[in-house]
Amino acid sequence: MLRIGLTGGIGSGKTTVANYFSSLAIDVIDADEIVHQISVPGQPGFDAITAHFGEDILNADGTINRQVLGKIIFNNETARNTLETILHPAVRTAMKLAVQEVRSPYCILVIPLLVETDFTELVDRVLIVTADREKRIAWIKKRNGLSDDQIEAIMAAQASDEERRDIADDVIENDGSLDSLFRQVEKLDRTYRASS
Ligand code: ATP
Repeated sequence: MLRIGLTGGIGSGKTTVANYFSSLAIDVIDADEIVHQISVPGQPGFDAITAHFGEDILNADGTINRQVLGKIIFNNETARNTLETILHPAVRTAMKLAVQEVRSPYCILVIPLLVETDFTELVDRVLIVTADREKRIAWIKKRNGLSDDQIEAIMAAQASDEERRDIADDVIENDGSLDSLFRQVEKLDRTYRASS
């Protein structure tokens, strides 16, 4: 089973690419979705997060208030590292289990922090999506109205495209045309099918 790790900076087009692989009948496993799944009450991530960050980060219904937690880690690198240390073993375990359920010829693991973490051991090849900084900023603003400063801060905390290219086996250039983006995905799909 060929496992492709898909990564890229904020707003580069990871989800758009992953959705297109999915439309080609390829199973997609998303690290962010897994984080959500293991962070609900009763799941291992929830217990670990509340044990460390306390009850102040909970909503009235007992679920984790993601905005409050997001604010804490956004402004504090130590807290961000702590949260990652707490969650990553459970995320890794859940991703390995999800890979065992894959029925397509190969699978895509969407891992936004692939370069920044030690998740590379979960994948056989690394596929990165890159896009022009200005385009990414415009897309993100249109999507959720973040300010330039907020976007800059997130980009500064992430690895650079150069660092991603260093570990990439395959590169998709999201140059602005969705048609070009999808043609690149189709080409890779043929390559991955041929080698699985
Ligand atoms: P994030 O890291 O924030 O989750 P992402 O890397 O998953 O982002 P997407 O969600 O796929 O990126 O894309 C970010 C936004 O930019 C989306 O609203 C998407 O529709 C838009 N977008 C991506 N690529 C293009 C493109 N080629 N043309 C127009 N809009 C695009």
